[in-house]
Amino acid sequence: MANKKVNKKDIAKLLNQWRQQFTVLAPSKENGVAQMAEWDGKDTSFLDWYRNTVIPPKASFLPPMEEMFRFQKDKEGYHIELPPTNEHKQLIFGIRPCDARAMTILDMTFEEAYQDPYYLSRRKNAVLVGLGCTNPCESCFCTSMGVSPTESTNVDLMLTDIGDQFLIEVVTDKGKELIAKASGLKEATKDDEAKAKETKETSYNKITRKLDTEGIVDKLQASFDDEGFWEQTAAKCISCGICTLLCPTCYCFDINDELVRGEGTRFRSWDSCGFPVYTKMPMENPRLEKWRRVRQKVCHKFEFYPMTFNVIACTGCGRCIRLCPVNWDITQVLESVPVKTGVRK
Ligand code: SF4
Ligand code: SF4
Repeated sequence: MANKKVNKKDIAKLLNQWRQQFTVLAPSKENGVAQMAEWDGKDTSFLDWYRNTVIPPKASFLPPMEEMFRFQKDKEGYHIELPPTNEHKQLIFGIRPCDARAMTILDMTFEEAYQDPYYLSRRKNAVLVGLGCTNPCESCFCTSMGVSPTESTNVDLMLTDIGDQFLIEVVTDKGKELIAKASGLKEATKDDEAKAKETKETSYNKITRKLDTEGIVDKLQASFDDEGFWEQTAAKCISCGICTLLCPTCYCFDINDELVRGEGTRFRSWDSCGFPVYTKMPMENPRLEKWRRVRQKVCHKFEFYPMTFNVIACTGCGRCIRLCPVNWDITQVLESVPVKTGVRK
């Protein structure tokens, strides 16, 4: 299908058409915190202020807290009541390419390695409409992680700023269906395509922070037991967990049961490998020291995930840099991993 275009002033009309089929989520400042939230049917001011959300879009697929099932206990034992199958259709408007890439990375854990029904029912019922970055943050380093700030790879439709309009690229069948049912769109011209190409090149070149990941798996393997390096790396971290909770590719969770007079609910909630109690077990805590937890966070993304799935579990979204209260910087850490020859067995 040929690319389309829409006037920026007509975005509300387009979203309202999609709103008849989906719950439309768009960038919003809920209590001052930028996140994807249900769109109210009229406010498109996010087109002016939005750079990226603080809370990543993973929250729409792996919520900060969710009910897994309810259970009752009687004389015969436990009875489980599963929640209704999730047929809820979500359209996420304005997802950035780095965060769309993060969803593909999460799929590797929640679909390839293990079929998580809660995550998958939301994921399969969702449509991602991307919006290319034209004003990236200083902390962004997506281009070093193989993501362009305007790329369409992991979305269904992709919008690129071409002045008073957005060019709309149709990427998947889901995207095709959305466009086929939408009215008020025009065919993109050669001139529009040329403008979009220019926007893409300019946006790409705006990402000035760089990270060289050449040989990073080997370097991390060889430095795994370098306690001095990891202690120094972890020194200023205060174990607040923000960098992991708000990372779009982190997925640590905890499971809790609440039981009141024989009736219970099992919940799943976000957790962080940065918290001292995360790996607490009856006999011992294998990551009691902070440096071991920081090492886990770094190695999980840049060593273990590449070894398991052949991809680095970081998209260069920069959240962990701009939101860390003590300015811990993952790009500086990775640049400072010592070059050693040995490889951990
Ligand atoms: S956000 Fe910063 S201080 Fe908090 S856990 Fe991460 S590195 Fe440590
Ligand atoms: S590690 Fe940091 S830069 Fe990489 S995806 Fe997570 S929050 Fe973004």
